[in-house]
Amino acid sequence: MAETLKKRSEVEEKLKWDTSLIFKTKEDMLAELDRMKRLSADIEKEYKGQLSDKDKINACLDKYNEFLIGVDRVSNYTSLNLSVDYTDAEMNKLDGFVTGEYMKELARLSFIDSELAELPENVLKEAIDSATIGKNYLKDVLRFKPHMLNAESEKVMASLGEVFSAPYQMYEQTKLADIKFPDFEVNGKKYPLGYSLFEDDYEYEEDTEVRRAAFKAFSDKLGEYKYTTAGQYGAKVRSEKLISELRHFDSVFDHLLFNQKVTREMYDRQIDLIMDKLAPHMRKFARLIKKAHNLDKMTYADLKLPLDPEYNPKVTIEKSKEYILDGLSIMGPEYQEILKRAYDERWIDFAQNIGKSTGGFCASPYQRGAFILLSWNERMSDVFTLAHELGHAGHFCSCQQHQSYFDNECSQYVVEAPSTINELIMAEYLKEQNKDDKRFRRWVLASQISNTYYHNFVTHLLEAAYQREVYKRVDKGEAVPCETLCEIFRGVLEKFWGDEVELTDGCELTWMRQPHYYMGLYSYSYSASLTVATQVMKRIRREGAPAVEDWKKTLAAGGSVDPVEFAKMAGVDVTTDAALLDTIDYIGSIIDEIETLM
Ligand SMILES: [Zn+2]
Repeated sequence: MAETLKKRSEVEEKLKWDTSLIFKTKEDMLAELDRMKRLSADIEKEYKGQLSDKDKINACLDKYNEFLIGVDRVSNYTSLNLSVDYTDAEMNKLDGFVTGEYMKELARLSFIDSELAELPENVLKEAIDSATIGKNYLKDVLRFKPHMLNAESEKVMASLGEVFSAPYQMYEQTKLADIKFPDFEVNGKKYPLGYSLFEDDYEYEEDTEVRRAAFKAFSDKLGEYKYTTAGQYGAKVRSEKLISELRHFDSVFDHLLFNQKVTREMYDRQIDLIMDKLAPHMRKFARLIKKAHNLDKMTYADLKLPLDPEYNPKVTIEKSKEYILDGLSIMGPEYQEILKRAYDERWIDFAQNIGKSTGGFCASPYQRGAFILLSWNERMSDVFTLAHELGHAGHFCSCQQHQSYFDNECSQYVVEAPSTINELIMAEYLKEQNKDDKRFRRWVLASQISNTYYHNFVTHLLEAAYQREVYKRVDKGEAVPCETLCEIFRGVLEKFWGDEVELTDGCELTWMRQPHYYMGLYSYSYSASLTVATQVMKRIRREGAPAVEDWKKTLAAGGSVDPVEFAKMAGVDVTTDAALLDTIDYIGSIIDEIETLM
């Protein structure tokens, strides 16, 4: 069972990531911040009020690209160091200072977007034709033109950026610094509790009494903060609605989907089809878990139980490296090189300590490697998480090698495809390694469902279904108090699980647990990305090398193409229901095979 958490300073160096890969020292980072401030002042002096012909525009964008790279590295440096220990007062202060400084500079340079947006279309088109790195950036300006405000208002909006992101900051502080979970007791034995301990450990705990007691203790404590959290969340969604109105979008959905380059139809399809067609398969899976564990009943607190717990082998960090390098070797030597660097240069934070953000995530400061935050529990399932995060690393390393900073960001609709495909490839590899071992095969199939598909097609999708209901109300100008949020979440769970799962008290608070709600319409996109990933993985299995080549080109293209084009480059059509329906069938077939193997 879990030990009491260490302080960050007590953690071994080799378990921590090495942010000196971004800047050797804090002083170097501050020097870069100063350089960016000077660059920003130069850009203002040279180009403000001057962006009227294609040459000036493109010269300005070249410098702006350089500025954004600097800011990207500086902001990553402090936020990454903070994310591993929110109780670090000095880092909190530094991050606050740095954020304040570069936000001011971003506001200073907001004239670029407003001046560009005010240019006549023909000038913009000329600039697009002669652009080197700014082509897609300018195309986006043209697309956004109808939603731009006048220069003064844009400046106000930009300088309020920190305020708009305040609810998210407060959410993280409440969640990671304020809430102190008490120990809970089962049969006279005390167990420590924490966010990460609960989500990474107790939800998978085989002892039913401990697992359900942990859920209760966790939910009870969470419940004490529900009004604060609802207030933070309410402020966030109302500000999004407000901005969507100021910018003349027809709805808050159109506003939030705009940057993703996704149609409302593509968005609704994911939620509607999965709520309807995947639910029967998942109820069957819940029945299989109940049977495997001989449970009296299937409750919300039991859903994460592994199907075959005796078979969740322990894995050391060293062994995980072997699995990763071997399992993903199908991606070729360049990709292999990135994976090796991740281990050798310490891109990964394996530590468990007080104040650390709940993982996992991967941040990729421009051309400075990648930083993967994990809560490593030495389980085989962690290898899948690692393969996932390394998928992001591989994607952005490849993309940043070929694209400017402007084109390095990718639509959320596909951003999880390079990561989830690694989980699928890893699963295929493990199945092949152990061809005659039926029980192992069943274990891999079950973890495909309980990790890969459950996470993306169930956990996040149910959040997405909830979120859609919240935004529908916000769009109509209705308030969304705490009670409404709980009611909506419970309703979504009832619809999906039917009578198959008893909805334990506390399940309605699940909306408090995800930071994704502070990032717009993010949750649904996991399933969209995994749909693309599933189809590409199936194609790689079917066709081999040509499919891998197409996929590598797609990764390198990054944000220079929209999601429909991205999928198309990899051989997948996301403009109809077909790819998603086929993916749901695939999930169903895995569950059927598990049943046969039981
Ligand atoms: Zn991811």
